[in-house]
Amino acid sequence: MAQNMTVCGNGFVECLEVFGNDLTVVNAARVSFAKESKEFTNQDARLVKYLARHNHVTPFFHPQVRFRIKMPIFVAREWYRHQIGFARNEVSRRYVDTPPEVWQPTAEEIRARDPRAKQGSKDCPVESCVDVYNIMKTAQDDALKTYSDLLAAGVAPEIARAVLPQSMLTEFIETGSLAAYARLCKLRLDPTAQKEIRDFAGAVEKILYAHFPVSWAALMDSDVSAPVLAPAPAPAPALTGESSMNVIM
Ligand SMILES: Cc1cc2nc3c(=O)[nH]c(=O)nc-3n(C[C@H](O)[C@H](O)[C@H](O)COP(=O)(O)OP(=O)(O)OC[C@H]3O[C@@H](n4cnc5c(N)ncnc54)[C@H](O)[C@@H]3O)c2cc1C
Repeated sequence: MAQNMTVCGNGFVECLEVFGNDLTVVNAARVSFAKESKEFTNQDARLVKYLARHNHVTPFFHPQVRFRIKMPIFVAREWYRHQIGFARNEVSRRYVDTPPEVWQPTAEEIRARDPRAKQGSKDCPVESCVDVYNIMKTAQDDALKTYSDLLAAGVAPEIARAVLPQSMLTEFIETGSLAAYARLCKLRLDPTAQKEIRDFAGAVEKILYAHFPVSWAALMDSDVSAPVLAPAPAPAPALTGESSMNVIM
């Protein structure tokens, strides 16, 4: 089972702890009717799909997953915009002054600008990508050297860090619910999201799919990007057939 994945060269997504499984979702829902499943059945799978499809999201809040993630600052800025359902603690460059690491794309990974602004970049490298690579590398190396020079001159790490680039890697521990990760992954796996954040979301998705195959597939197939606080869907039409939550439960 995928637990530790390298992403973007020197970044990673490491799964530290998992609380629950597909049955956790089912039993969170079944408590409404004072029922409990001991083993995951086909009927349970149908219930999970029903819950996801009708935006009954609270049962998906119960499974929790804890990751250790290392990613460039500019990706973390986007990642941290997803707040509801997450807890995070991050390394502090006020207290830590070990040599920073930076994300350095290969020459081929330095994508060209797309004239259609919303696309962010083309799929292909910029012209003269090798020259551009050298320019980027020199700028990053200079920043790292300046940082180290400032520390050597007695500057406090909390001030010296001001010269570090957005490509610097940061590391944090993040705990989130299955529902929160599904929302994040749906938004950040979309082709309109930047490739680097898509890569991190893809790693998280692989791990979560391995642990919660039925729930994850159901969530990713539903509109989990709809507001969490949306009003409950209209009541199920009848008390017969699989379209009724009452009957399924
Ligand atoms: C492709 C892409 C491009 C983006 N571009 C930009 C950009 O250019 N600039 C920018 O600033 N952001 C940008 N964002 C970030 C975006 O605006 C959201 O902040 C981010 O996607 C997190 O959304 P979320 O629904 O997971 O947020 P969360 O904060 O985790 O909220 C989850 C849900 O809780 C509810 N909620 C949260 N807070 C409130 C509230 N105050 N009131 C009512 N309901 C609430 C909403 O239903 C919300 O969807 C971009 C995101 C993507 C995916």
